[in-house]
Amino acid sequence: MDADSGYDAVRRFIVENQSVRGQWVRLGEAWRELCANSEYPAAVRALLGEAVAASVLLAATLKFQGRLTLQLNGEGAVRLMVAQCTHQFGVRAIAHYDEALAAKISGELARGEAFRALTGGGGRFTVTVEADERNLRYQGIVPLAGASLAESLEDYFNASEQLPTRVRLAGDAGRCAGLLIQKLPGTDRIQAPTAWPAAQRAMARLEPATLIEQPVEPLLSSLLPAYDVRLFRASPVVFECRCGEGRVTSLLRALGAQEVRSILAEEGAVTVTCEFCGRPYRFDAEAVDALFTHPGTGEAPALIH
Ligand SMILES: [Zn+2]
Repeated sequence: MDADSGYDAVRRFIVENQSVRGQWVRLGEAWRELCANSEYPAAVRALLGEAVAASVLLAATLKFQGRLTLQLNGEGAVRLMVAQCTHQFGVRAIAHYDEALAAKISGELARGEAFRALTGGGGRFTVTVEADERNLRYQGIVPLAGASLAESLEDYFNASEQLPTRVRLAGDAGRCAGLLIQKLPGTDRIQAPTAWPAAQRAMARLEPATLIEQPVEPLLSSLLPAYDVRLFRASPVVFECRCGEGRVTSLLRALGAQEVRSILAEEGAVTVTCEFCGRPYRFDAEAVDALFTHPGTGEAPALIH
């Protein structure tokens, strides 16, 4: 929870006198809280951690007010992965996976092999930005072709922003982290642009364990020892779910009175559990009656006749 501890924070940095900038993120408690209601196999959990770190890096690089969703559609053990980050860095995420396939992915596999087993060597990666104002919506899609989620993210940046970008991501049971470095256009008025080639070499050598374990200052000093890196203030990242009674009510109304009443008759109550945070929303007979006799101004048209 404490951004000063070096966890649950995102930080922007620039390399002085060089057209190179970056973002760093590392989550500890926020990541464990996010996963608290799910029992993901280790390989799935590690990839989900990378996806969450990636969603924060993306949200930090874009200027928007609203919500960013990173969606991964795989063809292997992972069928669907969703990581969401708001402009205030509230994150939530979920993974749908095939238990039998996921159980076969051992931690001994090389990184590229584990990624291919999780995604099936195919699938796609979609970034959607929903801006609060003006109902703006933007979407970008790249194939999950590389050997890692970080490579797909690099492809995404190359395609959408046309900025050369290097990304490293890492996740384990208790922590996840990400580092992004970009080369900005325009090299006039600065020193010989040597930081970008140096950063690329350093990123290629960076081990996931180092990314997870090192605080940002020593990490950047070891990656770019010859340069002055200016780190900006940390923004806290928190686990935050956007579910609520209103959303569940709309969902049940959309399902229709007949369906909802038949579940009520069978189960004695209707319980909807939020997939993201595990919070249960329970509707007894009285609550179900209220749902369909006072439909209010809800978006769903379901009414009893
Ligand atoms: Zn929720």
